[in-house]
Amino acid sequence: MKASWRDILQNNFRNWEKLADFLELDSVQRNHLVPNPRFALNVPMRLAKKMAKRSLDCPLFKQFLPTVQELANSVNFIDDPVQDAQFRCTSKLLQKYEGRVLLVCTSACAMHCRYCFRQNYDYEVERKGFEPEIAMIKADATLHEVILSGGDPLSLSNRALKELIDQLDAIPHIKRIRFHTRFPIGIPERIDQEFVDILDQCRAQVWFVVHSNHPDELDEDVLGHLDILRKKGIVILNQAVLLQGVNDDSETLYQLCRKLSDHGILPYYLHQLDRVNGAGHFEVGESQGKQLIEQLNERLPGYAIPKYVREIAGKKNKTGIS
Ligand code: SF4
Repeated sequence: MKASWRDILQNNFRNWEKLADFLELDSVQRNHLVPNPRFALNVPMRLAKKMAKRSLDCPLFKQFLPTVQELANSVNFIDDPVQDAQFRCTSKLLQKYEGRVLLVCTSACAMHCRYCFRQNYDYEVERKGFEPEIAMIKADATLHEVILSGGDPLSLSNRALKELIDQLDAIPHIKRIRFHTRFPIGIPERIDQEFVDILDQCRAQVWFVVHSNHPDELDEDVLGHLDILRKKGIVILNQAVLLQGVNDDSETLYQLCRKLSDHGILPYYLHQLDRVNGAGHFEVGESQGKQLIEQLNERLPGYAIPKYVREIAGKKNKTGIS
């Protein structure tokens, strides 16, 4: 019998020593790790298995392992770089863009990415359910799209997701439900039959925006599970973050965009890093980012080139970098 996604999630690495043993790190390498980081270690087995052994210089390791570089203070890096709180309608609903709202479904994720701008987000954890949010969405006929975000919305159970989707689907002016998720990149088994059936019954269009930064994250199993959605007519886009030592070279970005496009997933955004505390070592200069996009332009068709963008705190839309 295949393990359920919940069983797989239970087996995530949350203890640094166990992960260091698994990766066969020596004592010098272990000294580079932060044993009790503010943003806890959380790494699915699938991603750990793809990391190089006995090395700190692996693009997957760098994304998920807390190292002493996180402890450095970088100028202009703060706890809440995006400052979305000003757009809150309720503790779980943000309206930043016209016609769209973002529902913060949960604080939980399948993995903890060290550069995440939401790592200090003030999540509502007391109140269960989305009653006031659903009521607000229902009352505002100018809304046509709900973005399910978090954390990661696929951390919710199928039962909770069905309840939420049914409520949104019953609102006639909601034309589209968009999932923002990185879950399938670490635990593709999350796209199980029960979940596919829930999406299948949805009247509204369903779109997925997944988050993958490096081609090694996309194995056959990950792509196969995403393909199940795509074959149901679900549009799948990818957003990546430009990260030093991970994907700051044109060949890696080329391979990422190629792999995505070859599997019918559109490379949508390449984000400039949000300046969250502890992530200074990931930043790539914008001039280098622009050069990388130019190099991609020479090798890929237009649809396979992500838009290079940054968030500016307080600004309602993303700002293109060109
Ligand atoms: S999965 Fe997304 S929300 Fe969760 S830690 Fe990673 S980047 Fe942040």
